[in-house]
Amino acid sequence: MFQLYCGLVRNGIWYNYAEVQPISGGVLSIMDGLDKSGAGYMLKVVEGSVKALYTKDGQSYQLEPEDYKDIKGKDGWKICEEASKLFTGEKHHLFEEHFFCPVCSTTNNEKYTHVKESWSELAEKGLIDEHYLNDPSEFRWTTELPVPIEIKPLQNHISGGTYTKLVREVLSIGQMVRLSKDSWAAQTEANMLCATWDAEIVEITGLSERELNILKRNNQENFSKKYIKDQTNIEEMLNSERKLGYEGEFRKVSCKHCGSEVGGHLDFTNFFSFLSPKKSNPSAKTGDRTTRSTTRR
Ligand SMILES: [Zn+2]
Repeated sequence: MFQLYCGLVRNGIWYNYAEVQPISGGVLSIMDGLDKSGAGYMLKVVEGSVKALYTKDGQSYQLEPEDYKDIKGKDGWKICEEASKLFTGEKHHLFEEHFFCPVCSTTNNEKYTHVKESWSELAEKGLIDEHYLNDPSEFRWTTELPVPIEIKPLQNHISGGTYTKLVREVLSIGQMVRLSKDSWAAQTEANMLCATWDAEIVEITGLSERELNILKRNNQENFSKKYIKDQTNIEEMLNSERKLGYEGEFRKVSCKHCGSEVGGHLDFTNFFSFLSPKKSNPSAKTGDRTTRSTTRR
């Protein structure tokens, strides 16, 4: 049994431990999925490898098919990490990460440093952090915007006013899957961030649930993009993010070309590489074929 970052509440009981089984249907059942996004893989691996959740004392809850999408996305990463260890038979979940160096890269010659480290080992040694919730009430948290947002009245639908307090909730796997299929969000990084915030915001103090739903329902008029425009508000949204799971803020990685510090984050790009066919075929020669990361932060 291992502890989940968030867990799931059913009938008032907090189940925040899990156990993984070999993926039912094997890796092909996952690669058979039509959804090739990270969130799609995550859902498949979680569905295939976890059948029950547990309380700290071992009381179990058998998961129903409709429960899987409610499991928090952060727990999805944790479950996938454990599933990968079981799947590969290795002690640690290892995959290649790529760190871009802004110092010695030039336009046509981008310099990356490849690293293969276990996040759980780094966390054990205190080189990165790993955050768990202490209580399910922490699923939700409040962000207080420094600059009040002004919402104009709209006929009989919106009463209008100024608002500063947003209640946000940790996203579920189902919400992550929905975001990965959102074509508006896929257009730009800013859109993805705003779509993520819209999904997170569950309450605005002073605004009724009905009003919030009306303001959020039209994807072409994303709420966060429309109202959270002030730079100090954007920074507050980012800074007040709920810290959960692995966090690489203080991770040290040196550029192998020039020695500059290029760490400070985690690269999820190859997280699911344990599902790649070459892993399940030990006779295949593993060359130096690398899928270079194109994500930079
Ligand atoms: Zn460099």
